[in-house]
Amino acid sequence: MDLKIYEEDTSKTHKISYSGKGTLEDLITTMIDEGIDVPDEAIILTNGKQLDFDKTYNFINNQSFTLRNAANLEGFAIQFNDITKAKIKQIKVGRNNNAKPWRYVTRGINLYGNCQNNKCEAYNKEVIDMKKNIKELDLVKEKGFMICPMCKKHCQAKTVGFYKCYYNIFTVKCDEETYQNIKSGEIIPDFDKLNVSNVGKGNCVNSNGKNYVLQKTEGENIFKFDETSGDATFVKLLFQVLSY
Ligand SMILES: [Zn+2]
Repeated sequence: MDLKIYEEDTSKTHKISYSGKGTLEDLITTMIDEGIDVPDEAIILTNGKQLDFDKTYNFINNQSFTLRNAANLEGFAIQFNDITKAKIKQIKVGRNNNAKPWRYVTRGINLYGNCQNNKCEAYNKEVIDMKKNIKELDLVKEKGFMICPMCKKHCQAKTVGFYKCYYNIFTVKCDEETYQNIKSGEIIPDFDKLNVSNVGKGNCVNSNGKNYVLQKTEGENIFKFDETSGDATFVKLLFQVLSY
Protein backbone atom coordinates (compact mmCIF):
# COMPACT_ATOMS: atom_id res chain seq x y z
CA MET A 1 0.00 0.00 0.00
CA ASP A 2 1.25 3.48 -0.81
CA LEU A 3 0.92 6.68 1.16
CA LYS A 4 1.63 10.17 -0.14
CA ILE A 5 3.56 12.58 2.03
CA TYR A 6 3.57 16.23 1.14
CA GLU A 7 6.53 18.01 2.70
CA GLU A 8 5.56 21.65 3.27
CA ASP A 9 9.12 22.92 3.81
CA THR A 10 10.26 21.78 0.38
CA SER A 11 6.90 21.46 -1.44
CA LYS A 12 7.94 17.91 -2.43
CA THR A 13 5.60 14.93 -2.47
CA HIS A 14 7.00 11.55 -1.46
CA LYS A 15 5.47 8.14 -1.94
CA ILE A 16 6.09 5.62 0.82
CA SER A 17 5.10 2.00 1.28
CA TYR A 18 3.16 1.17 4.40
CA SER A 19 1.47 -1.93 5.77
CA GLY A 20 -1.93 -0.47 6.71
CA LYS A 21 -2.44 -0.09 10.44
CA GLY A 22 -0.24 1.92 12.75
CA THR A 23 0.43 4.80 15.07
CA LEU A 24 1.81 8.19 14.22
CA GLU A 25 5.15 7.01 15.56
CA ASP A 26 5.14 4.03 13.15
CA LEU A 27 4.36 6.38 10.29
CA ILE A 28 7.18 8.75 11.22
CA THR A 29 9.63 5.83 11.56
CA THR A 30 8.66 4.66 8.08
CA MET A 31 9.07 8.18 6.70
CA ILE A 32 12.57 8.41 8.14
CA ASP A 33 13.40 4.94 6.77
CA GLU A 34 12.31 6.14 3.34
CA GLY A 35 14.71 9.05 3.54
CA ILE A 36 12.31 11.87 4.44
CA ASP A 37 13.81 14.52 6.67
CA VAL A 38 11.30 14.68 9.56
CA PRO A 39 11.93 17.73 11.78
CA ASP A 40 11.86 17.39 15.58
CA GLU A 41 8.77 19.53 15.74
CA ALA A 42 6.89 17.68 13.03
CA ILE A 43 3.13 17.80 12.74
CA ILE A 44 1.42 15.32 10.44
CA LEU A 45 -1.99 16.15 9.06
CA THR A 46 -4.46 14.28 6.94
CA ASN A 47 -7.60 15.95 5.54
CA GLY A 48 -6.63 19.06 7.49
CA LYS A 49 -6.66 17.20 10.84
CA GLN A 50 -3.59 16.66 12.95
CA LEU A 51 -2.68 13.04 13.73
CA ASP A 52 -2.70 12.08 17.38
CA PHE A 53 0.25 10.34 19.05
CA ASP A 54 -1.89 7.98 21.13
CA LYS A 55 -4.16 6.60 18.42
CA THR A 56 -3.79 3.71 16.02
CA TYR A 57 -4.93 4.51 12.52
CA ASN A 58 -6.14 2.42 9.61
CA PHE A 59 -4.30 4.03 6.75
CA ILE A 60 -5.76 3.53 3.31
CA ASN A 61 -4.08 3.16 -0.04
CA ASN A 62 -2.96 6.45 -1.57
CA GLN A 63 -3.94 8.43 1.51
CA SER A 64 -2.29 11.86 1.56
CA PHE A 65 -0.49 13.39 4.50
CA THR A 66 1.05 16.78 5.07
CA LEU A 67 4.33 17.04 6.91
CA ARG A 68 4.52 20.43 8.63
CA ASN A 69 7.38 21.84 10.65
CA ALA A 70 5.82 23.39 13.76
CA ALA A 71 9.00 25.39 14.35
CA ASN A 72 7.97 27.48 11.33
CA LEU A 73 4.56 28.18 12.79
CA GLU A 74 5.84 30.30 15.63
CA GLY A 75 6.39 33.02 13.08
CA PHE A 76 2.79 32.96 11.91
CA ALA A 77 1.34 35.02 14.73
CA ILE A 78 2.73 37.35 17.36
CA GLN A 79 1.53 39.27 20.36
CA PHE A 80 2.15 42.98 20.01
CA ASN A 81 0.82 46.26 21.27
CA ASP A 82 -2.68 46.62 19.83
CA ILE A 83 -1.84 49.49 17.56
CA THR A 84 -5.28 49.35 15.99
CA LYS A 85 -6.55 50.88 19.25
CA ALA A 86 -3.50 52.63 20.63
CA LYS A 87 -3.19 56.38 20.78
CA ILE A 88 -0.27 58.02 19.07
CA LYS A 89 1.98 59.91 21.43
CA GLN A 90 3.91 62.67 19.75
CA ILE A 91 7.29 63.05 21.38
CA LYS A 92 9.62 65.83 20.41
CA VAL A 93 13.02 64.59 19.30
CA GLY A 94 15.72 66.94 20.47
CA ARG A 95 19.42 67.26 19.86
CA ASN A 96 20.42 66.22 23.33
CA ASN A 97 24.14 65.55 23.69
CA ASN A 98 23.50 63.64 26.88
CA ALA A 99 20.98 61.26 25.32
CA LYS A 100 21.77 57.60 25.93
CA PRO A 101 22.92 55.91 22.74
CA TRP A 102 20.09 53.35 22.95
CA ARG A 103 17.56 56.18 22.68
CA TYR A 104 18.54 57.38 19.22
CA VAL A 105 15.86 57.39 16.55
CA THR A 106 16.00 57.30 12.77
CA ARG A 107 13.77 58.56 10.01
CA GLY A 108 11.20 55.89 9.32
CA ILE A 109 10.56 52.84 11.49
CA ASN A 110 11.75 52.64 15.12
CA LEU A 111 10.96 49.62 17.28
CA TYR A 112 10.81 49.82 21.08
CA GLY A 113 11.56 46.99 23.49
CA ASN A 114 13.37 46.19 26.73
CA CYS A 115 16.81 44.63 26.49
CA GLN A 116 16.84 41.33 28.42
CA ASN A 117 20.58 40.72 28.29
CA ASN A 118 21.93 41.24 31.80
CA LYS A 119 25.42 41.83 30.44
CA CYS A 120 24.22 44.76 28.35
CA GLU A 121 24.70 48.37 29.32
CA ALA A 122 21.03 48.94 28.56
CA TYR A 123 19.74 45.90 30.48
CA ASN A 124 16.09 46.29 31.45
CA LYS A 125 15.95 49.70 29.80
CA GLU A 126 13.68 50.67 26.97
CA VAL A 127 15.87 50.57 23.87
CA ILE A 128 15.15 51.67 20.32
CA ASP A 129 15.98 49.60 17.26
CA MET A 130 16.38 52.07 14.41
CA LYS A 131 15.35 50.42 11.18
CA LYS A 132 17.52 52.69 9.14
CA ASN A 133 16.61 52.81 5.43
CA ILE A 134 14.19 49.92 5.85
CA LYS A 135 11.10 50.67 3.81
CA GLU A 136 9.13 47.60 4.72
CA LEU A 137 9.14 45.46 7.85
CA ASP A 138 6.84 42.54 8.53
CA LEU A 139 7.13 42.03 12.27
CA VAL A 140 5.31 38.70 12.15
CA LYS A 141 8.01 37.37 9.85
CA GLU A 142 10.58 38.63 12.35
CA LYS A 143 8.67 36.64 14.99
CA GLY A 144 8.14 39.85 16.92
CA PHE A 145 11.83 40.39 17.61
CA MET A 146 14.07 43.43 17.31
CA ILE A 147 17.79 44.00 17.96
CA CYS A 148 19.14 45.88 20.95
CA PRO A 149 21.32 48.70 19.56
CA MET A 150 23.91 48.18 22.32
CA CYS A 151 24.50 44.42 22.63
CA LYS A 152 22.97 43.45 19.25
CA LYS A 153 20.97 40.65 20.89
CA HIS A 154 17.34 39.93 20.09
CA CYS A 155 14.62 41.21 22.33
CA GLN A 156 10.89 41.37 21.97
CA ALA A 157 9.55 44.46 20.23
CA LYS A 158 6.70 45.99 22.24
CA THR A 159 5.69 48.99 20.19
CA VAL A 160 6.64 51.13 17.21
CA GLY A 161 7.31 54.76 16.43
CA PHE A 162 7.64 56.63 13.14
CA TYR A 163 9.78 59.65 12.54
CA LYS A 164 9.89 62.14 9.67
CA CYS A 165 8.16 60.01 7.08
CA TYR A 166 4.98 58.98 5.39
CA TYR A 167 4.03 55.54 6.60
CA ASN A 168 1.51 52.78 6.19
CA ILE A 169 0.54 50.14 8.67
CA PHE A 170 -1.23 47.03 7.52
CA THR A 171 -2.56 44.68 10.17
CA VAL A 172 -4.44 41.42 10.30
CA LYS A 173 -5.50 40.44 13.79
CA CYS A 174 -6.89 37.13 14.97
CA ASP A 175 -8.72 35.92 18.07
CA GLU A 176 -7.35 33.67 20.81
CA GLU A 177 -8.90 30.48 19.41
CA THR A 178 -7.44 31.06 15.97
CA TYR A 179 -4.08 31.84 17.56
CA GLN A 180 -4.09 28.56 19.51
CA ASN A 181 -5.03 26.67 16.34
CA ILE A 182 -2.18 28.33 14.49
CA LYS A 183 0.24 27.44 17.27
CA SER A 184 -0.86 23.80 17.38
CA GLY A 185 -0.44 23.57 13.62
CA GLU A 186 -4.08 22.90 12.83
CA ILE A 187 -4.43 25.89 10.57
CA ILE A 188 -2.26 28.19 8.59
CA PRO A 189 -3.70 31.69 8.65
CA ASP A 190 -5.77 32.63 5.68
CA PHE A 191 -5.51 36.41 5.56
CA ASP A 192 -8.66 36.78 3.52
CA LYS A 193 -10.83 35.19 6.20
CA LEU A 194 -9.38 36.99 9.17
CA ASN A 195 -10.28 40.32 10.62
CA VAL A 196 -8.54 43.16 8.87
CA SER A 197 -8.14 46.39 10.77
CA ASN A 198 -6.88 49.79 9.96
CA VAL A 199 -4.78 52.10 12.00
CA GLY A 200 -5.12 55.84 12.18
CA LYS A 201 -6.68 58.07 9.64
CA GLY A 202 -6.63 58.18 5.87
CA ASN A 203 -7.07 55.30 3.49
CA CYS A 204 -5.52 53.84 0.46
CA VAL A 205 -6.03 50.41 -1.00
CA ASN A 206 -3.35 47.96 -1.98
CA SER A 207 -3.36 45.63 -4.95
CA ASN A 208 -5.35 43.00 -3.06
CA GLY A 209 -8.10 45.48 -2.34
CA LYS A 210 -7.26 45.57 1.36
CA ASN A 211 -7.27 48.82 3.24
CA TYR A 212 -4.04 50.45 4.09
CA VAL A 213 -3.46 53.51 6.15
CA LEU A 214 -1.33 56.38 5.05
CA GLN A 215 -0.02 58.73 7.68
CA LYS A 216 2.51 61.48 7.91
CA THR A 217 4.49 62.45 10.94
CA GLU A 218 4.80 66.10 11.81
CA GLY A 219 7.84 68.25 12.41
CA GLU A 220 10.42 67.03 14.88
CA ASN A 221 7.99 64.67 16.59
CA ILE A 222 8.28 60.91 16.69
CA PHE A 223 4.87 59.26 16.50
CA LYS A 224 4.99 56.50 19.10
CA PHE A 225 2.04 54.14 19.60
CA ASP A 226 1.41 54.08 23.33
CA GLU A 227 0.88 50.80 25.12
CA THR A 228 -2.14 51.51 27.28
CA SER A 229 -4.57 49.44 25.21
CA GLY A 230 -2.73 46.15 25.79
CA ASP A 231 -1.62 43.46 23.37
CA ALA A 232 -3.41 41.81 20.49
CA THR A 233 -2.53 38.84 18.32
CA PHE A 234 -1.45 39.62 14.80
CA VAL A 235 -0.97 37.30 11.88
CA LYS A 236 0.18 40.23 9.82
CA LEU A 237 1.82 43.39 11.04
CA LEU A 238 3.44 45.26 8.24
CA PHE A 239 5.14 48.64 8.63
CA GLN A 240 5.91 50.56 5.48
CA VAL A 241 7.69 53.81 4.84
CA LEU A 242 6.59 55.47 1.62
CA SER A 243 8.90 58.42 1.66
CA TYR A 244 10.95 60.51 4.04
ZN1 LIG B 1 21.21 45.06 24.96
